[in-house]
Amino acid sequence: MDLGLNTDIQFIKGVGPKLAEKFARLGIRTVGDLLGHYPRKYIDYSQAYPIAQAPFDLDCCVKGELVGVEPARRIPGGRTLQKALVRDDWSTLQITWFNNPYAAKKLVPGETYYFEGRFGGNLARREVINPLIRTQEQVDQTPLVAVYPATEGLPSGVIGRCVGRVLDLTRELEDPLPEEMRRRFRLPEKSWAVRAIHTPARPQEVAEARRRLIYEELLTLQLGIFLMRGRSSKATGAPMVEYDPAPFWGSLPFSPTGAQQRAAGEIFKDMSGRPPMNRLLQGDVGSGKTLVAAAAVWMAAKNGYQSTLMAPTEILARQHAETLDRLLAPFGIAVVLLTGGMKAAEKRNALAAIEDGRAGLVVGTHAVISEKVTFAKLGLAVVDEQHRFGVRQRNLLADKAHQPHLLVMSATPIPRTLGLLLYGDLDISILDELPPGRKPVKTWFITGKKRRDLYGFLDKQMAAGHQAYIVCPAIEENGQDDSLQAVTTYLEEVARPLLPHRRIGLMHGKLKPAEKAAVMDAFKAGELDLLVSTTVIEVGVDVPNATVMVIENAERFGLSALHQLRGRVGRGSAAACCILISDNQNDSVRQRLQFLCRTPDGFAVARYDLETRGPGDFFGSAQHGLPSLRIADLATDTRVLSAAQKEAQAILAADPRLDSPDHQGLAAQVERLFEAAGPLN
Ligand code: ADP
Ligand code: MG
Repeated sequence: MDLGLNTDIQFIKGVGPKLAEKFARLGIRTVGDLLGHYPRKYIDYSQAYPIAQAPFDLDCCVKGELVGVEPARRIPGGRTLQKALVRDDWSTLQITWFNNPYAAKKLVPGETYYFEGRFGGNLARREVINPLIRTQEQVDQTPLVAVYPATEGLPSGVIGRCVGRVLDLTRELEDPLPEEMRRRFRLPEKSWAVRAIHTPARPQEVAEARRRLIYEELLTLQLGIFLMRGRSSKATGAPMVEYDPAPFWGSLPFSPTGAQQRAAGEIFKDMSGRPPMNRLLQGDVGSGKTLVAAAAVWMAAKNGYQSTLMAPTEILARQHAETLDRLLAPFGIAVVLLTGGMKAAEKRNALAAIEDGRAGLVVGTHAVISEKVTFAKLGLAVVDEQHRFGVRQRNLLADKAHQPHLLVMSATPIPRTLGLLLYGDLDISILDELPPGRKPVKTWFITGKKRRDLYGFLDKQMAAGHQAYIVCPAIEENGQDDSLQAVTTYLEEVARPLLPHRRIGLMHGKLKPAEKAAVMDAFKAGELDLLVSTTVIEVGVDVPNATVMVIENAERFGLSALHQLRGRVGRGSAAACCILISDNQNDSVRQRLQFLCRTPDGFAVARYDLETRGPGDFFGSAQHGLPSLRIADLATDTRVLSAAQKEAQAILAADPRLDSPDHQGLAAQVERLFEAAGPLN
């Protein structure tokens, strides 16, 4: 059959329904989707390292002569193991294959090969497990090999071969960028760029193709955001008069910081203005954003309006509801909790109180923006830890009332370009002062060898009545999230054996909301000494008696995430500390972790994170809620982003709804990008 761009992927030679299912996991359903699945990177085999110089624990490629291959042998668990030795002029490399009986079949001792993988070992003898192997001839023919985002049972190599079979169809790709624009920015045609991105002849071609495709993607993204935002310059439907916050401040057991007063002042001004407030409240962990939000809720209530506060997790929503209830009860403002995990009867009561206006503040998760919720008189919407919410969620929230005031709170400082992209028209208040008496959380970086000592220290802390967290990251293998497995194995094999007489709780994302709440309540009440957790604990949890935060495999987190995590301790009067554990030997990884140890300031941490771009950084699309991008990178492609931003503005100024025939290609792209994004979580 003749293949076209819309043909189902299973009709490509060698694919079939089975493999098609695996492709579907990567969001690839048609031939066109496959061509739009761009390589993650390339291995440039012509730039192979000498064995001794291969960086530790990073994917790279070395070249060497095969000395010999041992016969394969069986090992327990029904697996096979095979070893080989490779050398160059200076050093040797030991190769180990697990369960790969064919890997060494065609290899000839005495020949030179290229090996690609992660190289460990020591300087005297380097080691690699299951490397990819290419011959000199293969490398001479195609030195650059594309590496694709892959999934279990569908490795990059298979994807590459399938792409090769449909590469000729690139000529059918229509170009969404008008010719005039391409000329102005000297961008190559789409069909050329897509072919080159998959099978570049030289690195220069990759650069050119990337520039073109990144520009297209960022222009599409920016157009979509502008179109969705479409904020009218209408007046707010919740007009208010400004009050003096003194009675609210006066009700607290402590004085607000100068920064809190300043931020509240700015918010009160906005809320009593004609256009709806649209403000971002940025402040490091522990700077007291909740209190500022409470002041805003107080002001809305004084004016006869309801407020809502939306949090990214159930745990956090419940905690906020408790805190805010304490702060607002003295003023007769009723706080109502609304989450997906609530019992039906509780939910019915909550919905009724929201609808008839008894609820002065509704605290919840995404449930707050569900269709069933009707507010009597919503005037203010607060979104906590905004980077977890999408632009669309924000708009849905705004739709619950006629142009309500909007306050978004975030602990993660956003770089200017991304801020502009996401918020554009947002004003910013910054809490640059911590409440008095807060001590910075001492942070150490250790290797797994010291784990036993660490547990001794934990035991002492617990003996003194304190509590601790241990966080294990999601370990992604073959694209599968294995965090549950990681955290339960850790609990059973490490934590319990080392602390047999302590009460240890387990927290992870797969628990039901009620189970999560029960674990959290037990921890808060001091019925648990230690909480072993995935990163669900990350944002906002407040247990003042917890003094130690331990993070296993710390190298897998971005620094900002680590900073957030350590902000979970040190909330009480006792000294607190954070211990990062990592066995990763890569220099830049170790430097990153050491930087965190000596830097208490979250803004400095975020800046460093941005510059060095560690793994799991906060630009992961899951966090900012934007559609996931195929090729552009919001942290590094900032120059293209500003160019695309200007162009998007110009396009929409002339053609606000992308109606002109010239813009049909772009309009279709926008639709596709945001459709594919799907709902968050
Ligand atoms: P974050 O900005 O990370 O959301 P929170 O709002 O959770 O911070 O506040 C952190 C802790 O500091 C809370 O326990 C809160 O009660 C306390 N706090 C907030 N403001 C002050 C203040 N002005 N003085 C003393 N403690 C404060
Ligand atoms: Mg908070």
